[in-house]
Amino acid sequence: MDKILTKQEIVNWLKENNEHILQNLWKEADSLRRKYAGDEVFFRGIIEISNYCQRRCRYCGINATNKTLKRYLMSIDEIMQVVHTIKRLGYGTVVLQSGEHPRITRDWALEIIKRIKNETGLAVTLSLGERHPDELEAWHQAGADRYLLKFETASILHFNKIHPPKNKSVWKNRFEILKFLKEIGYETGSGIMLGLPGQTYEEVADAILLFKELELDMIGNGPFIPHPETPLWEEFHRMANQPNQVTNDALTACKVTALTRIVCPKTNIPSTTALATIDPKEGRINGLRWGANVIMPNFTPACYRQWYQIYPGKSKVIQAPEEQHQQILKMLAREGRLPGQGKGSSLNFLQRQGLTQFS
Ligand code: SAM
Repeated sequence: MDKILTKQEIVNWLKENNEHILQNLWKEADSLRRKYAGDEVFFRGIIEISNYCQRRCRYCGINATNKTLKRYLMSIDEIMQVVHTIKRLGYGTVVLQSGEHPRITRDWALEIIKRIKNETGLAVTLSLGERHPDELEAWHQAGADRYLLKFETASILHFNKIHPPKNKSVWKNRFEILKFLKEIGYETGSGIMLGLPGQTYEEVADAILLFKELELDMIGNGPFIPHPETPLWEEFHRMANQPNQVTNDALTACKVTALTRIVCPKTNIPSTTALATIDPKEGRINGLRWGANVIMPNFTPACYRQWYQIYPGKSKVIQAPEEQHQQILKMLAREGRLPGQGKGSSLNFLQRQGLTQFS
């Protein structure tokens, strides 16, 4: 039976700062991770295929209003070259992420998905924003396995303020899209940012309870990192010391990772890049120690990475893929964790499909 935490209990944990008491949270999350996800850590190779974006998300560095960026769209051959590197390193999944833009057409994405499936057999995760249901369906039929769409914060009102809705969208909100993705068979992922200006501890607790209600297969949570070329930069600094304002520090992100594992033990949880950015020394490994079982190393070619700055500091260290891989393997060996084999679907998803074993 999954552990039921009340909203007040979650809020209390989020506000708890006593190191000794927090040991209980870390232990519980780690033991549930071991029980339901095992010791394997699954690698998802992420390629940021384009930074074109027509949305005006007030938190995101690649939003349409940022005129300081050079915009790019990788060619299909460039993408496939990186996909083959990811395959060669033994990864089971490639993640294609981009801004939301009509340049990413249905047929262009279809061709990439088909080539990845035919040439490598890798699992394909898409993170391409709020797309039309016909596109989402066609991509799944072509072989796309998973879709990531974070709802970013629990309150729809708050989300609409920081992510102005599109005119004439077919969707009411992101919850409706997540429901649809699950219905048509995607392994479905979401998550939130922590420390958005105006976000309260109660709102974060609501999000964790929503993860449970939505029965998500993947849940990624990371700190909000303000970007100077976005409207939330100023608001973030103005709100920083307000009472009940959630902080965007690594400890809060780790607590949310642990609480997510406790509330949704059968899901896949990444130790996020944003957590590793805010705490370069310990962030990634602490995430794995306290509930996470997935990491998403970046494979975007260096010439494009500088233009995919959704937040500052994201691409500070650019290593060659092999070097990055060796470093990750060493980190896992030190922690007694194993590199995952195969697709690495979540137990939640496998049980929904009527399969109980990991594939
Ligand atoms: N366009 C797609 C979408 O909106 O889902 C995918 C790309 S979007 C850049 C991917 C994720 O980046 C978002 O879901 C958000 O959580 C994260 N992100 C954007 N700006 C951020 C910031 N300033 N700090 C931390 N994470 C951020």
